[in-house]
Amino acid sequence: MRLVHTIAQVREAVADARRLGSTIGLVPTMGALHEGHLSLMRQSRRQCGFVAVSIFINPTQFAPSEDFASYPRTLDDDAQKCEQEGVDLLFAPNALEMYPQGFDSWIEVGGLTSLLEGVSRPGHFRGVGTVCLKLFNISQPDRAYFGQKDYQQLQVIKKMVSDLNAPIEIVTVETQREHDGLALSSRNRYLSKVERQAATVLYQALQAAQAEYASGQRDSSALEQVIHSVITAQPLAEIDYAVVVDADTLLPVDTIDRRVVVLLAVRVGLTRLIDNIILNNDATNNWIIPD
Ligand code: AMP
Repeated sequence: MRLVHTIAQVREAVADARRLGSTIGLVPTMGALHEGHLSLMRQSRRQCGFVAVSIFINPTQFAPSEDFASYPRTLDDDAQKCEQEGVDLLFAPNALEMYPQGFDSWIEVGGLTSLLEGVSRPGHFRGVGTVCLKLFNISQPDRAYFGQKDYQQLQVIKKMVSDLNAPIEIVTVETQREHDGLALSSRNRYLSKVERQAATVLYQALQAAQAEYASGQRDSSALEQVIHSVITAQPLAEIDYAVVVDADTLLPVDTIDRRVVVLLAVRVGLTRLIDNIILNNDATNNWIIPD
């Protein structure tokens, strides 16, 4: 595996791989890698001849009040994990490489970004869209891999790729979880022991919604009530939003007559966690990946 820090080095490595006829896979991350990230790499490894991973804690997607400064930075450990997963190229640029002085062009995806995370984290998706398009242009992958865990981000990226005709296939990878259902996240390490225990309430709420749905409930406000009652029973948890929405537009639905997703953002102590599930008719409660 090659570890590189400049855009020129990425272009060179990708051009070499292309000359050999390889398809290129890109896995964009912010590092502090866990099994969730590794599952994206494995999927990319199965589908592409050349796998590139980026690690960049993108300053433009953090609001001033957020955890940019304290976000975990573990490059040596991350590089080892990438190596073990058979990654070909690890791109770890610094902020100036990505945003040189005078940088001033931004991606704004419409409607989808004015909801939910977009309300709680103004400017977040502008930063995400911009950095992802830059990473796509830098490495020109055939496929880019994203986790279902960040469901709204995934929809925003798909919309950007479609609207702007980026010649890239976006591949969705299902959410990887701890044994008790907590979705893996780099931010889980902020949780104290007691908060970590309390954080399982997100998964419990999703499961409760899925069980109600599988037993025939099609009224979304009734499902939202179930979700709210599960979460509010946990004193350390505070709901930011907990909604049942159209799985494509993320707009509210009354009666569930199409594919819907439950989206949760919940603060546990000072840590904000998100999770989701696409509701399905499977009473055995299997997770389903969109598309
Ligand atoms: P991040 O480093 O948090 O920006 O995440 C990088 C990528 O990994 C994004 O596409 C995430 O959706 C994905 N990801 C994060 N956590 C998980 C998880 N638990 N399961 C699957 N993918 C994940």
